[in-house]
Amino acid sequence: MKNYKITVLKGDGIGPEIVDECVKVLDKAGEKFGFSFDYNYQLLGGCAIDEYGVPYPDETAKACKASDAVLLGAVGGPKWDSQPGNNRPEKGLLAIREDLGLFANLRPAKIFAPLKSASPIKEEIIGDGLDILIVRELTGGIYFGDRCESEIHNGAERAWDLENYSVPEVDRITRFAMEAARKRHGHVTSVDKSNVLATSRLWRRTVIKIHDEDYPDVQLDHMYVDNCAQQFAIHPSFFDVVVTGNLFGDILSDEAAVLSGSIGMLPSASIGNETSLYEPIHGSAPDIAGKGIANPIATILSAAMLLRYSLNEDKAADAIEAAVNQALDDGYRTGDIYKEGMKKVNGRGMTDAILARIQ
Ligand code: NAD
Repeated sequence: MKNYKITVLKGDGIGPEIVDECVKVLDKAGEKFGFSFDYNYQLLGGCAIDEYGVPYPDETAKACKASDAVLLGAVGGPKWDSQPGNNRPEKGLLAIREDLGLFANLRPAKIFAPLKSASPIKEEIIGDGLDILIVRELTGGIYFGDRCESEIHNGAERAWDLENYSVPEVDRITRFAMEAARKRHGHVTSVDKSNVLATSRLWRRTVIKIHDEDYPDVQLDHMYVDNCAQQFAIHPSFFDVVVTGNLFGDILSDEAAVLSGSIGMLPSASIGNETSLYEPIHGSAPDIAGKGIANPIATILSAAMLLRYSLNEDKAADAIEAAVNQALDDGYRTGDIYKEGMKKVNGRGMTDAILARIQ
């Protein structure tokens, strides 16, 4: 039987409770589909500061690098607000992303049919649904380019940030998006601003070359970022996989997240060459931590992504996603997504409903 090594970072706040629920779902999927897990529990964030004095200890780094994938809850909370800026829990997140060389960020934005009314978009626009996977380049572009905080130019103070992309950087993220599209509906939209920016023209040329040479079976189109921001709101069902650079991806992935209606539902993946990190997009929710009422679905769907993208266990990932949909369809709701007439459950109750529907 296949056995996978997973480093588990529960983190702070609601992290431990949602991760504990999620591990039950991974185990059940393994049982059904014929594989098992070795979990290596390590510390990241505030809990690591308490134990080791730093948010990303060496032990954690070593374990992550030796594992097939990393599952993270969330980090941070008021307890560590008085820590100096360079030793706060959130620094652990930046440090782990950099140390593991995570070059692609995947953010699916999906509206589950039973939760259509929670979306700010009108039901007639949602139409057939919204199921977008945003693939954002994470280690290049303007966030990592040279910058100048202040200089005098022609007698005026100015600042600047340099956007740059190399062909290998675009090549790597494009291939990832194309492969992801093959696992979904076979459609990639590459988003740029090639009517203005030289980096975008290189981006577009590179995407076209890789597509034509190696992925002619995938449907490819291109969209300017301003148009894309509009199309998300007026024609969201057009999109399947969206691939874009760091800056545009940062903004578009938050726009797409808001379309889906609930922060407790959204997973994410950050992909590296050696290992990859899976985590919900929400934070540690200190306001509800320890009460057992946090919605575990974002973490459970992150685990489904882990199965799909790190372990190639697509059938198990499909089964988890279908079970989440079925539990919602059958009326189970945690407090954050509750509506009158539904079955209100706590985190464990939601997990039980999902476990019972994994087939
Ligand atoms: P948050 O996402 O933790 O919470 C925002 C609101 O959403 C809160 O009302 C919370 O109760 C609710 N919420 C979030 N997740 C939920 C869930 N699974 N079920 C039910 N309700 C949920 O954002 P915040 O309050 O801005 O940040 C709290 C802490 O988390 C801060 O220390 C912040 O730095 C940290 N944070 C961490 C991450 C991460 O670990 N990746 C991301 C964002 C924020």
